[in-house]
This record gives sequence, C-alpha cells and structure tokens, in this order.
Amino acid sequence: MTGMSGPVHLSDPFPEPKPVEGCDVCAELVRQRTEHLKHWRYALAAMCAVELGDHVHKVKGTSS
Ligand SMILES: [Zn+2]
Repeated sequence: MTGMSGPVHLSDPFPEPKPVEGCDVCAELVRQRTEHLKHWRYALAAMCAVELGDHVHKVKGTSS
C-alpha cells in the first residue's frame, strides 16, 4: 500500500462528475462531456462538469 489517497484516474484528467439519478439534465451533460472527451475538447468537457454541479436538478417524481 502507498500513502496515496483518493481515486486514480489514468485516462481521465478531470474529476468524474456525479450525475443525479433520474435527472435528465445530468444525463445529457454526462453524455455531452463524454462526447467532448472523445474529441479532446477538454475545455468543453470541463464546462459540462461545472454545469453538472451548477444546475437545478429535475428529478422525475418518485415520491409517493
Ligand atoms: Zn441534474
């Protein structure tokens, strides 16, 4: 074991955004981010990650 802590991202230089389950906006942003990363558009991918944490989540009603 090493003294390193936290996850290691070998192929992803940016922290993985955490989409909210059931939020369409999150799902779309994750999709766009993946697409940007495929094309090495890191600035745009980073913007998607920021947007992910910066919008009002619209979760479809699972409440009773
Ligand atoms: Zn969301």
